[in-house]
Amino acid sequence: MTSFDPAQRNDSLPARITSALYRISQAMNHLLRARGEAAGLSPAQIHALLFLQYARPGVRTIGGLAERLAATYATASGVADALERKQLLRRKPLAEDRRTVTLNLTAKGGREAATVEDVLGEVEAAIASLPEAEQEALQRAAQAIVRRLQAAGHVRVYEMCWGCRFFQREAHPDDPRGPHHCAFVDAPLPVAETYLECPDFVPLNL
Ligand code: SF4
Repeated sequence: MTSFDPAQRNDSLPARITSALYRISQAMNHLLRARGEAAGLSPAQIHALLFLQYARPGVRTIGGLAERLAATYATASGVADALERKQLLRRKPLAEDRRTVTLNLTAKGGREAATVEDVLGEVEAAIASLPEAEQEALQRAAQAIVRRLQAAGHVRVYEMCWGCRFFQREAHPDDPRGPHHCAFVDAPLPVAETYLECPDFVPLNL
């Protein structure tokens, strides 16, 4: 049984690894906080900017943001309000359904999101310094852990279409709305959208 007690952790390999993962998550939070302080943004605001930069358009709403931040609707709305006051975000009714309000980065918001791109660079550099075989083993192990946490509902995985069970490649190559198809939302996918992150992604081999 994993514990925060260092004496107990010492006796178990899974507990020591869990502790190391916890430290890595602390480091990531620290990096995000430091970058946010430099830019005058809270960690939630940084997550929101990155979400709006990379999530597929259909989920760029307050509800989608709430899911991504694992926060309440009211909290997500407050984050959006703060970004709007900073002129980093603009609310806009959806053309097909004016009751749905989408969140869009302004040009200034896009520039701000670009400045936090490399926030995980230090962690990536530490991983890149490992021998390739260790990186591959780490990737397999990390994916297995994430899948288990995902199945238990502790994390929502956002991935691109290309490895998704619902992705139908070149389903209608001559359709001006997009050559590919998403069976989940039953809609054509323009090529550019297949490179965005989606909360409805389900891996092929699950
Ligand atoms: S459900 Fe899958 S195929 Fe559909 S948009 Fe999301 S990732 Fe792409």
